[in-house]
Amino acid sequence: MRKFKTESKKLLDLMINSIYTNREIFLRELISNASDAEDKLYFKSLTDSSIQLGKNDLTIRVSFDADARTVTVSDNGLGMDKDGLDANLGVIAHSDSLEFKTAQAANAAGAADEAANAEDDEREESAQVNDVDIIGQFGVGFYSAFMVAKKVRVVTRKYGDEQAWVWESDGVEGYTIEPGEKEGHGTDVILYLKDNTDEESFDTFASEFGLKDLIKRYSNYVRYPIQMMCTKSRQKPKPEDAGDDYKPEWESYSELETINSMTPIWKRRKSEVSQDEYNEFYKSQFHDFTDPARTVSVHAEGAISYDVLLFIPGRAPFDLYSKDYQKGLELYSSNVLIMDKCEELVPDYYNFVRGVVDSQDLTLNISRETLQHNSQLRAIAHKVEKKITGELKKMRDNEREDYEKFFENFGRGLKYGIYSTYGSAKGELGELLLFYSAKQEKMVTLDEYIEGMPEDQKAIYYAAGESAERLQKMPMVTGVLSRGYDVLLCTQDVDDFCMQAMMNYNEKDLKNVASGDLGLESESDKTAAEEATKEHEALFTAMKDALGDKVVRVAVSPVLTDAPAAITSEGPVSLEMEKIMAGMPD
Ligand code: ADP
Ligand code: MG
Repeated sequence: MRKFKTESKKLLDLMINSIYTNREIFLRELISNASDAEDKLYFKSLTDSSIQLGKNDLTIRVSFDADARTVTVSDNGLGMDKDGLDANLGVIAHSDSLEFKTAQAANAAGAADEAANAEDDEREESAQVNDVDIIGQFGVGFYSAFMVAKKVRVVTRKYGDEQAWVWESDGVEGYTIEPGEKEGHGTDVILYLKDNTDEESFDTFASEFGLKDLIKRYSNYVRYPIQMMCTKSRQKPKPEDAGDDYKPEWESYSELETINSMTPIWKRRKSEVSQDEYNEFYKSQFHDFTDPARTVSVHAEGAISYDVLLFIPGRAPFDLYSKDYQKGLELYSSNVLIMDKCEELVPDYYNFVRGVVDSQDLTLNISRETLQHNSQLRAIAHKVEKKITGELKKMRDNEREDYEKFFENFGRGLKYGIYSTYGSAKGELGELLLFYSAKQEKMVTLDEYIEGMPEDQKAIYYAAGESAERLQKMPMVTGVLSRGYDVLLCTQDVDDFCMQAMMNYNEKDLKNVASGDLGLESESDKTAAEEATKEHEALFTAMKDALGDKVVRVAVSPVLTDAPAAITSEGPVSLEMEKIMAGMPD
């Protein structure tokens, strides 16, 4: 028995107990290693003409034995010799794959420099850089097997060698390496699952359903076929002599099935993929039953290369505005899922956007669950945001009906985005807002409102309340309308907050018609109103006394035209906001 190096032992303990938060990722790690081994052999075949093999010959096989409680991940890749086993599986945190990758990267550096930051579908396929897509780099993934296994046995035979080797370990003290037998090159990793305890069961890992689920979830886009013997059922053929009362009989049989879909849809050019395919992918990946409203893809190559596929959903998920809703895009690195919902990739106000980001250039941290350097991520996030904004503007300008539907679904979030960033997102989002115009009786953008303003109008007017019908009857609204000025009727609770956070739009102040000072009245109107107030002081004092604390002041309005009286507010908190805040839990 060889002992693990002391550092290795400590690391192993750390690994099993704390680096990974989710033990089911063991399968992802083993499959990634298998894929790396296939890649290594494939790459070797490119330079060594004695290796006759096509990419289709390379496959990964997952199998299980429910009774013996074992799971096996097999590949027909490069395999390892005795020294390789010792070096790679005896020393934790030694990554041969990283060395391999680094060596390849040095060769490929020239080619990568040439590839400019080509975007969208103008992407240039740069030589062989993309053909080697080694996933491993930390030299710890393999040990995640010990989160679910009490013993791991590796049977491996290096390509070109006659002798196979068996590595075995219980993951605690050390490991053994013995000569063994194996047909063909490649590696079998056999896990002997831990015993179930009262708290934990490991049985799903030795089941067809459980393994299929994990493969689909974590390794769906691994570039080699991941195959599994699956149980299926079929109708037995009808016997010749079957009578009229023959009832069809069923039998089960086994068939080798490829579980993963391999070519990631986001890596394909938009022109090669039908909208139907995108829709199906969206619905199955993001568990929606409605087609997406828009699909956006980005392919960038250069300092950081990445592929992005974004969807604007066709309807709002039921929990979008709840506390539990989690925004984020799926993050892949070299076709392997790193994170389900990477929050850093989308701003809060685009939290409804679903999609995938895949980049082989991300610096992952040891567990692959989080990222080490956020600058790369930030660059991608910036691009994602620009793309979404661009798509929305395109929709707003060219397909207004679709856009209004979109805005019905997600407009509230955009407005909230302006409010929650204290107006700093208004540059990005202001143009995207729609409000109901009292004059035009339809949804308009703020720019359209401004276009329709008479020359003497200085500010943008809006009214906030429960319904457009009621707002339309508000004396302050009719007052403004009668001057030939339009009023935006805001009926969402966030509207007034959003308007106040923006303060102005394109140098035009945003004014709530229910606030005292509208800037509508001329100086002479104002003086006349003040004089009238003084003149009838006794009356107004009596009215104020009668109303008590319900009002601050009673005075003559310089603004009203048709209506006899109106309630208005002074200061930054409008009547509507007061109502909303009064209804909020403390
Ligand atoms: P990493 O994949 O980050 O290098 P791992 O702990 O997952 O780290 O694996 C350690 C090393 O063991 C790999 O770099 C590779 O050299 C070797 N290895 C693991 N699994 C296989 C396999 N299926 N075939 C060949 N080599 C393997
Ligand atoms: Mg690995």
